[in-house]
Amino acid sequence: MASPRKLSTAAIVAAVVLICVTATCLFASVLQGAAAPTPAPASSVAPQSASAESPEKSQTEKEEAPSTSQRPSPADERATEFAVDPTRSDWETTTPEQPTVYLTFDDGPSENTEPVLEILDRYRVQATFFVTGINPDYFPMIAECHTRGHTIGLHTYSHDYATVYASRDAYWSDLNAIGEVVRKQIGYVPCFIRFPGGSSNTISADYTSGIMSVLSTEVRDAGYQYFDWDASCGDGAVHTADELLAATQADTSYGYQSIVFLMHDGAGKETTVDALPSIIEYFQQQGYAFAAIDRHTPPAHHGIGN
Ligand SMILES: [Zn+2]
Repeated sequence: MASPRKLSTAAIVAAVVLICVTATCLFASVLQGAAAPTPAPASSVAPQSASAESPEKSQTEKEEAPSTSQRPSPADERATEFAVDPTRSDWETTTPEQPTVYLTFDDGPSENTEPVLEILDRYRVQATFFVTGINPDYFPMIAECHTRGHTIGLHTYSHDYATVYASRDAYWSDLNAIGEVVRKQIGYVPCFIRFPGGSSNTISADYTSGIMSVLSTEVRDAGYQYFDWDASCGDGAVHTADELLAATQADTSYGYQSIVFLMHDGAGKETTVDALPSIIEYFQQQGYAFAAIDRHTPPAHHGIGN
């Protein structure tokens, strides 16, 4: 029979062994814990679940993306189609099947641009705006015209003949400046331009002899197309709305199939706004459709005057 002393010694040994085993196990599990990935604190769990949701969201977006790319918005199509591109200087213009008038507005944007847009919307007419840098306060109207489906073309930044036609470099500097204004508004530099005074102007000869002959080739080599006009409402010379309508009727009495029509939405052209509804109705009565300029529009080139 074991003595109480022996029992007690055995109990102590057993207890020590138990403690050692337990401690070893604990130590091992601590080691294991150190080797295992540290569980994220609660605060960083949330972002993990958020990032776990992100792939689901982007998957949803990916699923939606094809339908968007299959049906690009008109603005997206124009960014591809109308951006100036030196590799696309092979202009294939086509005469429209239905008699068509391309209303073009020069010298804006200004306070007259919004009223013009309202009238165009009312008649569901698309047009083209050859814009300038004269009124920076109205630059957002360039984006507004574009958003409403109209074509944006470049006219000139300064519209100062002495500046624009001082030299070839001066012309390009001016064109690039208005191109940059437009790019900031609509996301691309359009390929459509209109020379100040048209390609037939002779005022440029006061500053640089022969400059229009050079520029008319250079701009096309650079991927631009310049548009002159077949007819106008006369708003550079006449002033009342009735006179503008009469000038329109007189200048379009030749049965054109395609008319690039010159108007102005610059400052001081309020009577052009007043005359616009009756000018649109006149063309409608004559059987004309309306269209904004695109890469197929006949550009109505004048004879070079300098
Ligand atoms: Zn002008």
